[in-house]
Amino acid sequence: MAHKLLDKALRMGEARQFKEFEKRVVRINAFEPEMELLEDGEFLVEANELRERARGGESLEDLLEEAFALCREACRRTLKMRHFDVQLIGGMVLHNGDIAEMRTGEGKTLAATLPVFLNSLGGDSVHLVTVNDYLARRDADWMLPLYEALGITVGVLQNMQSFEDKQVAYSADVTYGTNAEFGFDYLRDNMATSLDEVVQRGHTFGIIDEVDNILIDEARTPLIISGAPEEAGDWYGKFARLAPTLKSLEKSQQETKAEKAAAGKPDYDYEYDHKHKTVAPTELGIEKAEKFLGIENLYLAEHGNLVNHFSQALKAESLYKQDKDYAVIDGEVKIIDEFTGRILEGRRWSEGLHQAVEAKEGVAVLEENQTLATITLQNYFRMYDKLAGMTGTALTEANEFQKTYKLGVVEVPTNADMIRNDYQDQIYKTKDGKWAAVIEDITERHERGQPILVGTVSVEVSEMLDEQLKKKGVKHVILNAKPEHAQREGETVAEAGRSGALTIATNMAGRGVDIMLGGNPEHLAKVELRKLGVEPGDESYKETLDEVLPAIEKQVEADHDKVCDLGGLYICGTERHEARRIDNQLRGRSGRQGDPGESRFYLSAEDDLVRLFSGERMYKMLDRFGSTLTDDEGRELPIEAKMITKRVEGAQKWVEEQNFLIRKRVLEYDDVLNKQREVIYKYRNEILEGRDMSGPVKDELQGVFERLVNEYTASEIIEEWDIDELFIQIGLIFTPNFGADEFPLESLVREELVERLYEDSLRAYDEREAELGQELMRNLERVVLLQIIDNRWREHLLDMDYLREGIHLRGFAQKDPLVEYKNEGYNLFGELMNSIWEDFGRYIFHVEVEVAPAEVERGFAPSSNSSSTRNVNYSGGGPKQPSALRNAAAEAEAGAAPAGVAEMEPGDEEVGMLPEVETRRVDDRDKIGRNDPCWCGSGKKFKKCHGG
Ligand code: ADP
Ligand code: MG
Repeated sequence: MAHKLLDKALRMGEARQFKEFEKRVVRINAFEPEMELLEDGEFLVEANELRERARGGESLEDLLEEAFALCREACRRTLKMRHFDVQLIGGMVLHNGDIAEMRTGEGKTLAATLPVFLNSLGGDSVHLVTVNDYLARRDADWMLPLYEALGITVGVLQNMQSFEDKQVAYSADVTYGTNAEFGFDYLRDNMATSLDEVVQRGHTFGIIDEVDNILIDEARTPLIISGAPEEAGDWYGKFARLAPTLKSLEKSQQETKAEKAAAGKPDYDYEYDHKHKTVAPTELGIEKAEKFLGIENLYLAEHGNLVNHFSQALKAESLYKQDKDYAVIDGEVKIIDEFTGRILEGRRWSEGLHQAVEAKEGVAVLEENQTLATITLQNYFRMYDKLAGMTGTALTEANEFQKTYKLGVVEVPTNADMIRNDYQDQIYKTKDGKWAAVIEDITERHERGQPILVGTVSVEVSEMLDEQLKKKGVKHVILNAKPEHAQREGETVAEAGRSGALTIATNMAGRGVDIMLGGNPEHLAKVELRKLGVEPGDESYKETLDEVLPAIEKQVEADHDKVCDLGGLYICGTERHEARRIDNQLRGRSGRQGDPGESRFYLSAEDDLVRLFSGERMYKMLDRFGSTLTDDEGRELPIEAKMITKRVEGAQKWVEEQNFLIRKRVLEYDDVLNKQREVIYKYRNEILEGRDMSGPVKDELQGVFERLVNEYTASEIIEEWDIDELFIQIGLIFTPNFGADEFPLESLVREELVERLYEDSLRAYDEREAELGQELMRNLERVVLLQIIDNRWREHLLDMDYLREGIHLRGFAQKDPLVEYKNEGYNLFGELMNSIWEDFGRYIFHVEVEVAPAEVERGFAPSSNSSSTRNVNYSGGGPKQPSALRNAAAEAEAGAAPAGVAEMEPGDEEVGMLPEVETRRVDDRDKIGRNDPCWCGSGKKFKKCHGG
């Protein structure tokens, strides 16, 4: 009851809104006599005047009526179509950021030009989103003369187009393209390593055509850019073979400090520490690794993530034991929960450790970082400041549009009255009975010449029917939703209204293409020209077109009349779809613009939807209605009963609701990742825009030291604090000018130590800066950070994926998996941010800039697989991804040459050589004075430690 009242209230609100629309239509119409006086060349002048007013601060609301009137008149002149009043209303609905429900054939393409024009006046760009490439191209080309008259630039996105073309497309006032193309470009922009690689200019206003298809049907699958991992598996294998040959020492077994100092250089390859789950290779170990791998320097930039691989392999070897920390089940490494001893299903260690363990156990190494970037369509489209949509079928999903996208649905009346005959469903007890009736019905109509569109629920069913008709020798065409057929699909559908046309299609096929009774003259003319060997773009094209068109138009008109006499386009539905919307969509292909038309759905009690939701009772009902009756020839007779149709509709509503809940759930999960993505992308953008990162960097370094100090002084019992290990870890970041001995445990105050470390790190940082020069340092900060962020983010995506997959297994103890996912996702993100800054600390102090031939294009990031960004698999061509490192070098080069790149040889630039950045190994002992702190990070003086 309550919701009936609400319904009524909404309706009253709607009525008021409609009155307003109608008033505005009257005012727009009042401009018409004035507009009609304009010379063809004057539209641009008028449009520019409106632009000036918009840029001078006049609101779009105030300009709407004049702008719509101007657009309408320009359209009448250029495209020979005058926007119907209902199209003006549709245009207003779009401008308001709502969904205009306008039936198929009502002219949504044209209606959209009104808000496009209006909203571009102020200089904002409008994105017009279509369901396929064909429609993006078609609609942009079709509307082009109108846009040109008004001075609106138009861009078109196409799959696999070049980066330059994309940039041009986005620089236009209005850009036509598919949802996937827009979404992927957004993701690609956020993988860019410099601003020149970014194509999108923001998300101000988006108009989505066939909005239900995009925001509901397609929104089930997120957009994912995945990269082929580099031969990571191979490295894991190599390191797994190396690790057991190395000599290790457990931290707790180490000699006392005195003994250690006396022993001098350690004779083991690495030490490991169970308590903190850390490993630290010695110089000896690093040498062995280099020899084993046949490379000179493990820390060289070109070796990318080898350092990380190495330490993960050492961890896998020394710290993780089978059947204690993990189990190998069916060729998979599964983590054992250390507290409960239970297998943690679907979870993986991060940062390459899991892969290292897999390599150690000789099972298949699951490639890391498949996902480079991902977003759901929901979250992509929610970024727009203003979003609007149009479709023939939105009302059944109004609830979802409102809840998910805050989009209202406004039903726009049709231009001409609808006279299509929608017959009652015919329901058969068996599928066979149904198909026999369908085939009889369509062959009989086909023989008379009535055009028919048969809708099927799946590709499989469409093919089955195709076979049967072939056997009977009935001429027909088949269409299913395979994207590579989009182009042909458009053409086939354009001919589906000619007399004698029989088209078998899946319900989704051919969206957006108008079925005109008698055929589409322009399309037919094009086909005719092709037969004559004249192609679009040829010199004689237009001329020949004008020649053949009149005859074709005549022929089409005659055929149109014939088809009308036969009852118009007949729609035959062969099963009910899960969603009523899709059925309405199919029906809506007929009866457009006041055309005659007919539609009927055939059902059987064996259809999935009927069977699953009301099978038993349906059978009983059918029995009661006597469907077992057969005719003289033994054919099953159908039942036409409102009651049964109602039940089926009930089932559809229920399924729609369930599907909505599923999509909502998917979105709730994605929202967790979405917030994180926003944070990361914001960072990236600031870096790309050249923000000075030295401030944040220094702040974050303090956090890094704080965490380290807290970790190693966590215990209540002072004796358990492990200052030596702490200094080893700090040594991996930078070398402090004081040692652990200056902080005796008894009097250690954590804050003081953190403060000392922080201040000393600032000193070291300044030294780096003095060494490299300010400009290079700023660039390095950005480049290093960008690469680290990208690598860590990719790993994080994988971690989140696993978390997501595994979380439902934790449905025990009445825990809501979503809450769990949020909590753990939050923790993972915290770890991600920490690890970014720790990596940064480790790299910024050691990275080295020198001149070298730029053969190696790879970055130097800690666990980089920069090649994968060039290997991305997405549907669409993208910008080449130059390495971030080149950009930094180029940027540095552009300014005064900083100290670090001064050695560049005169001829270098000419052959396109760029300075290369590489990391320096930590143990650069040659430069260490005897009184300097030791390279190993022990905090002792070199002479007293490894140099002793
Ligand atoms: P929709 O997208 O709403 O299904 P389209 O934009 O494809 O419809 O247009 C359907 C047909 O209606 C097109 O062939 C178009 O030429 C025609 N049409 C649209 N608006 C007008 C108009 N104002 N005057 C004349 N024809 C129109
Ligand atoms: Mg359309």
